[in-house]
Amino acid sequence: MANLQKLGVFDVQGLLHHLPLRYIDETRITAIRDLRTGDSVQVEGEIVHNEVTYKPRKALVAKLQDIGGQQLSLRFFHFYPSQISALKVGTRLRVFGEVRGGFFGWEMVHPQFRSVKDEEPIVETLTPIYPTTAGLTQGALRKWIKWAFAHGDLSETLPAAQYKKVKSDNLPSYADSLQAIHHPTPDANLRDLDERQTPGWRRLAFDELLGQQLSMRQHYARRRTVGTPAFKPAKTLITALLKNIGFPLTGAQQRVALEIGRDLMQPYPMQRLLQGDVGSGKTVVATMAALQAIENGWQAAIMAPTEILAEQHYQKMRTWLALMQGVTNTEINIAWLSGSQSKKDRTASLVAIASGTAQLVVGTHALFQEAVVFAKLGLVVVDEQHRFGVQQRLSLKNKGERNGHPGKAFSPHQLMMSATPIPRTLSMSYYADLDVSVIDELPPGRTPIATKLVSDERRDEVLNRVRDACMTGSQAYWVCPLIEESEVLQLQTATNTFANMQTTFPDLHVGLVHGRMKPAEKQVVMQAFSQGDIQLLVATTVIEVGVDVPNASLMVIEHAERMGLSQLHQLRGRVGRGAAKSACILLYQNKLSDTARARLKIIYESNDGFVIAQADLNLRGPGEMMGVRQSGTPMLKIADLTRDADLLEIAQSTADKLLQDYPHEVEHHLARWMAKAAELVKV
Ligand code: ADP
Ligand code: MG
Repeated sequence: MANLQKLGVFDVQGLLHHLPLRYIDETRITAIRDLRTGDSVQVEGEIVHNEVTYKPRKALVAKLQDIGGQQLSLRFFHFYPSQISALKVGTRLRVFGEVRGGFFGWEMVHPQFRSVKDEEPIVETLTPIYPTTAGLTQGALRKWIKWAFAHGDLSETLPAAQYKKVKSDNLPSYADSLQAIHHPTPDANLRDLDERQTPGWRRLAFDELLGQQLSMRQHYARRRTVGTPAFKPAKTLITALLKNIGFPLTGAQQRVALEIGRDLMQPYPMQRLLQGDVGSGKTVVATMAALQAIENGWQAAIMAPTEILAEQHYQKMRTWLALMQGVTNTEINIAWLSGSQSKKDRTASLVAIASGTAQLVVGTHALFQEAVVFAKLGLVVVDEQHRFGVQQRLSLKNKGERNGHPGKAFSPHQLMMSATPIPRTLSMSYYADLDVSVIDELPPGRTPIATKLVSDERRDEVLNRVRDACMTGSQAYWVCPLIEESEVLQLQTATNTFANMQTTFPDLHVGLVHGRMKPAEKQVVMQAFSQGDIQLLVATTVIEVGVDVPNASLMVIEHAERMGLSQLHQLRGRVGRGAAKSACILLYQNKLSDTARARLKIIYESNDGFVIAQADLNLRGPGEMMGVRQSGTPMLKIADLTRDADLLEIAQSTADKLLQDYPHEVEHHLARWMAKAAELVKV
C-alpha cells in the first residue's frame, strides 16, 4: 500500500486512473536468429548460463537459448538476490526488451521477464506497462487494478442527453474506456494506444478537460458572490488623462478600457486578464482603471515584477497625474514603494497608504509585505502577472479584505496584465476562471522590427553595425547569453562582455545592467540609458520586461538559440518603440540542432506574439508557458491541448450545460476527477 501511495494512488479511483505509460506487444515470439538492433520484441527460451560479473561494472548476466539453438544475453546492472534465482539455469522464460547487438552477440538490458511453463499459451492482447516504483511489479499493479474494476465506481457521470452527444463524437462510456485502456482487445492498435489516440483514451482526456472546466467555471461563479465596491464611470479624471497623454487611444485600447470599466461597475470583483503584445499600450489602460477607483474614493495599487519596470510606471503615471492637475484642479497623490528606498521614504509612503492620502500606489513585491496597510484598497493591478507567485498575488488581494463589511466576504477588483499572449487553447483551459481582454493592435507609427539571424562567426560585422547605429545618434542593447545553470557564470559572462565592449568601442559610452545589481544601481544605469548618456547597454535578460526607451533601435542577442521563444519576442519588443527603423540581430552558435533551428525560424518569420506563443506551446507544452500559475492550477495529466483541442471545445459546451441543469452530475464528475485539485483552485 505504501508503494501505491508513492505513485500518488490513494484509493480505488486512483487505481483505475493509474494509466499505462505505454504498451508492449507480447502476442508474438521472435526467434533469436531474426533479431534486429533496436527492435522491441519478445523472445522465449531456457536459461543456460547465469553469472554475476564485475567487469566493466557489476552486472547480472544470464544467457537465454531459444528453440533454434541461438543465444541472447540478458544484462541487469541493478538486481535483487531474488532475480538471480529467478534466472537460474533451466528456467523457461519469456523476455521482452529492446535488442542491441553487443560485442558478445545479441543482448537485452533490463528486459521484462517472467517464467512460463512448457506449451503455455501466448497472450492475445497488448500488455500495458504502468508507471511503477521499486518493489512494486507490473504483475502486482495489474492485480490491484483488476481488483479496482470490481470495487470502483464505473458509472457514467454524464447525464443521458450529454452522454448521447459524446457517443456520437465516437467517445465510449467511462467504463468501456477504462476497460479498453487497461485491458486492450486483441484488435487494438499499438501505435494508437501508445499515442493515446484511441476512443477510450480520448474519452478520458475529455473527462479530464470537463473536470477542469467545471472546477474553473464553478470557481469563477463563486467569486461573483464576493462583495466589492461598484465604481461609477470616472468621467472627469479619465477625460483629463486622455487630454494629456499626447496620443489618441487605439481602437483596441478603447475596447478593452470599456470592458474593464464595465467590470468595475459591478458589485463583485473583476477578475480580468489584459493581454497585449509588448508595446501595445497597456499602461494607459491600467491607469484609466485606477482613475475609476480613485474618482469613486478608493485606492488603487499597481504592482510590477521588477524595480526598473515599477519605477517606469511610477514616473510615467506621476507625469500624467501632474499634467492632469492643471485640468481638474484636484491633486491625486501617488506613493512609491520598493525594497530599495530609504527607511524615511518608506515610512512616509506607508503612512500615506494607511491614511488614504495616497490614492495611487505603485511598487514592486514590497507592496504585499505585512507592514503595508491600505486605508481603502479597491483595485489591484498586477503587471506581468506570470512573474508573480500565486501566494504573492493572493496576499495583495487580501490587503483589501479588511475594507469590507464584517462577516461578508470582500475582495478588491483585480486586473492582471501580460505581454505574453496566451494561445486560445491555453486560455480556454487553464485560464477558464478569468475574463480575458486582448489588445490586438499596436499604436500607429511604429516601424516594424527587422529580425536577422546571424552566425556568431560574423560577429565583427555585427559589431560594426552597433558602432554605426550609435555614431548616428541611436542607441543599442547587447543582450548576454542566458546561462540557466549558474548565476555566477551568467554574471561573469555579462561583466566580460561589458569589458570587451568597452575595449572594442573606446569612443562610446557603454553601460552594464544585470540581475545581481542593487535596484538603485540598476536604476541609475537605466536612467542614463533613457537619457541617452549611455549609448550601448550591455544587459542580461533583466531587461526582458517592460523597459521603454524609444531611441534604442538596435538589439543584439547572443546565443539566441538558448532562449525561449516568448522570451526572445519580449526582448525584441524593447526596440521598435520609436519612429526609427529598428533591427534585432539574433546571434547563434553554429551547429544548431534541428529544434533550435525550427524555433529560430519561427521568431525570424513572425512578429506576431500570438503566433509565437502558439508555437511555443506546441514545442514546450503548457507547464513552461504558464510560469508560476501552474502551482495554483491542477495540470492536465491525460489531455494534451495541442492533440485534443477538439475535445476542449466539446468539454466547454458540456460544462456549460451541466452547470446550468445538472448540479448532481457536476458534483459526481468533480469528485471523480478533481477531488485532489479542489484545494488548489482558490486564488
Ligand atoms: P505595454 O503594453 O508593453 O506595457 P506601454 O504601455 O509601455 O506598452 O506603451 C508603449 C509605448 O507606447 C509607451 O511609450 C506609450 O506611451 C505609447 N503608447 C501607448 N498607447 C499609445 C497610442 N494609442 N498611441 C501612441 N502611443 C501610445
Ligand atoms: Mg508594460
